[in-house]
Amino acid sequence: MGEDFTMLFSHPEFDNHEHLSFFCDPETGLKAIVAIHNTSRGPALGGCRMFPYASDEEAVRDVLRLSRGMTYKSALANLDLGGGKSVIIGDPRKQKTEALMEAMGRHLESLGGQYIAAEDSGTSVPDLKVMGRHTSHVAGIASRTGFDGNPSNGDPSPATAYGTFIGLKAAVKHKLGRDDLNGLKVAIQGIGNVGFRLARHLKDAGADLWVYDIHDDNMRRAVDQLGAKPAAAEDILSLPVDVVAPCAMGAVLNDDSIPQLKARIVAGAANNLLEHPEHDAMLQDRGVLYAPDFAINAGGIIDVFYERAGATPETVRAHVDTIGDTLTEIFNRSDRSGRPTGEIANELAEERFKKHTAGAGQASERLARTG
Ligand code: NAD
Repeated sequence: MGEDFTMLFSHPEFDNHEHLSFFCDPETGLKAIVAIHNTSRGPALGGCRMFPYASDEEAVRDVLRLSRGMTYKSALANLDLGGGKSVIIGDPRKQKTEALMEAMGRHLESLGGQYIAAEDSGTSVPDLKVMGRHTSHVAGIASRTGFDGNPSNGDPSPATAYGTFIGLKAAVKHKLGRDDLNGLKVAIQGIGNVGFRLARHLKDAGADLWVYDIHDDNMRRAVDQLGAKPAAAEDILSLPVDVVAPCAMGAVLNDDSIPQLKARIVAGAANNLLEHPEHDAMLQDRGVLYAPDFAINAGGIIDVFYERAGATPETVRAHVDTIGDTLTEIFNRSDRSGRPTGEIANELAEERFKKHTAGAGQASERLARTG
């Protein structure tokens, strides 16, 4: 791997990235990388992650993988956005300062709007606002009426949870042939910002819930407020339920967990659920319908896109609702071709970002202006 890192263009995760920037500001301690994978549909929008990477190589690998994923997610969601991501190397609990965030903002400004940063693990709305003192190329920070009519501070989690709920319903319709969720058994792993809101949508629709979270207070909230049943860490993915919804971390669909799945559907919001690409086919072979993560969890990026475009809550909601149609198209193509759903989702996304549309250029100009 060491040799690959020094040969960036031949890095295993490079995948024809358009642009990679390394930012260093010794005064504030900022060390950051911005990766722009593809801008054929518009400017690259993606989160800014702050994490204490063990090595520079680990940071490069992470930013390349995440950036590419954003190209696929936005294209599949039919947004006029490209894919990009940034990482700040450092511990957010110990090394985060206003000066460092301001330095990041100045660096983002120097990219001229090719990349727009939003919140990610280790950064929050206040951090993005500090960056925003020096650049207009930040998103996910505007107080406004959210897609659901409730006040929003820019946090995309409610839209992600709603989109995941819509996608889960499409999967249930396709696999189980039912329109209602009454009595449907769902196990949710991770009941944080997205998982808890998803649980509430499911509860309101009449589903029975089982939950597990590493934090007891999150568990208690779901048990007390939603009547969910607590499950053990080692059981949550193998319970005899209809749907498993992983909403905590990635790589949970792997050689160990897939043989133990009893649910016929996996539909959750966490990114990079498959540990390796071959787990896509493994799920299909076992008769499990997998709702590809970057298709079902696109509600947040849709919300952030429209924050910059200044759209009405109704427009945002209508676009998030299309997640159900996208998934149904993926499931139908998978049935017709006999190929797994993750592979089909990648193919569909590539169809959408590899062709340059006249509208994409106009949209990127519009977005750069709205900053
Ligand atoms: P969050 O941090 O609010 O929630 C994650 C929850 O998972 C926390 O409650 C945490 O305690 C729990 N958790 C951590 N490790 C666990 C484990 N081993 N087992 C069970 N629970 C565990 O994050 P979030 O914003 O709700 O995001 C959840 C997932 O969805 C993440 O993978 C994130 O990347 C993805 N996602 C989020 C958004 C968004 O808009 N927030 C958008 C797209 C994708």
